[in-house]
Amino acid sequence: MSKPRLRFAPSPTGYLHIGGVRTALFNWLWARKTGGTFILRVEDTDQERSTDASRAVIFESLNWLGLDWDEGPGKGGEHGPYTQMERLSLYQAKAEELVRAKKAFRCYCTKAELDLQREALKAKDPKAQFKYPGTCRERTDEPNLPYVVRFKTFRGGSVRYVDKVFGEIVTPNIEQQDFVLLREGGVPLYNFGAVVDDMMMEVSLVARGRDHMVNTPPQIMLYEAFGVKVPEFAHLPMMLAPSGEKLSKRHGAVSVSEYAETGYTPDAVLNYLARFGWSHGDQEVFSKEELIHAFSWESCGRGDGKFDAKKFLAINHEHLKTPGLTTDGDYASRTVPFLKKRAIGVQSEARITEKAVTSALYMIRERATTFGQAADMLDPFFREPPVMDEKAAAKFLIKEAAPRIAGFREAVARAAEWTEGALEASVNAWLAESGLEMKVVGQSVRVALTGRTASPSLYQVLFVLGRDVSLARLSRAASMADRLSI
Ligand code: GLU
Repeated sequence: MSKPRLRFAPSPTGYLHIGGVRTALFNWLWARKTGGTFILRVEDTDQERSTDASRAVIFESLNWLGLDWDEGPGKGGEHGPYTQMERLSLYQAKAEELVRAKKAFRCYCTKAELDLQREALKAKDPKAQFKYPGTCRERTDEPNLPYVVRFKTFRGGSVRYVDKVFGEIVTPNIEQQDFVLLREGGVPLYNFGAVVDDMMMEVSLVARGRDHMVNTPPQIMLYEAFGVKVPEFAHLPMMLAPSGEKLSKRHGAVSVSEYAETGYTPDAVLNYLARFGWSHGDQEVFSKEELIHAFSWESCGRGDGKFDAKKFLAINHEHLKTPGLTTDGDYASRTVPFLKKRAIGVQSEARITEKAVTSALYMIRERATTFGQAADMLDPFFREPPVMDEKAAAKFLIKEAAPRIAGFREAVARAAEWTEGALEASVNAWLAESGLEMKVVGQSVRVALTGRTASPSLYQVLFVLGRDVSLARLSRAASMADRLSI
């Protein structure tokens, strides 16, 4: 069997919706699993809504996700161009072919005429669905009139296909009307553009959202009219909002860019989306390689799924926690931009390097759920002086804390070496001899070192900050506390 050819065909009319990514992902997984080809095609025939900015965001999002395409914009390929507005002459030629074969016809009905007919029908029966009545089916060509090209829909029989997910689907042809292939001016409508492209690009399997199932019977009619092999189809269940509605911006973040900006890791996004309409036993966490290995159309389900933001975050956390899924190097390189963004204009910005972040990671890996959060947790280690939380300072850097902070400073300065163990031993000795308890000293010292009341363990903090910075921060806080009166 020849290798499958699959495609993702977004319309550049906005951001890349995570539902769209799920479609792209399933196509991509199958192409990568089988050694097939993954094509990217831009369907920009809706000229009012398509923008270059949206096109750029879609490419950027797919690149960020690592869903690389083998043919398409920026990549080329023998079936290009891969942008529909650059293919108009092809659609026009294909439409002419059908007109010549009397499988399509020019329709000269004006919009006003069709509107009148629609209204007349509605007046008789408000529930009736208006269908083009076939007025121009047999009309002779009128050289000077504007026209659209319509398909001469099959009148009897039905379209049958076996969906790779939904099984056998039979649709009576009577449900179809003579649908428009080309608008006045020669721009194709979706069904025609998609079929001409899928046919010419030799797509062998069309996988897309279940919302496109209504388009499949008219598309199959077109393949039959052209006398070519019909591709296979796989329709995927929908991704819904928790309320059961179509998932949209109103329900929270739905664009890939927002997840990138919050600090999700691309593989976790793919992992979460893979579980929409597909399962592999009870396994929830997958690396990209595992997804490629495990994916199959047989294990796709038919039931729509509900988007669960909490679970998505939990999957991301799992990916961030696990070095096998997110290596130290990857973690650091993705966290650095978040730290840099926070440190714009701050002198210590130059200290934010992948190496420095890597050596601090061990303190936060278990807890950070996003790279954005990791950057927040690491911020005190990369800013000199650390940002002081005012409330924390007012509560813990009080006058009576000054001698304790100073005592702590001396204890750590005395440590045999600057390691967590030696620091802890030296502090414990000081506590024992001064009769103080850690719970009395701890928070003041934490605020002194990090500017915050929550941080990794004090000894980790000291170790990562290093001797000079730690001692300087403790001195500074002790004198701040000393100046404050209770
Ligand atoms: N441009 C269509 C969309 O974005 C593609 C549908 C298809 O995959 O055939 O929904």
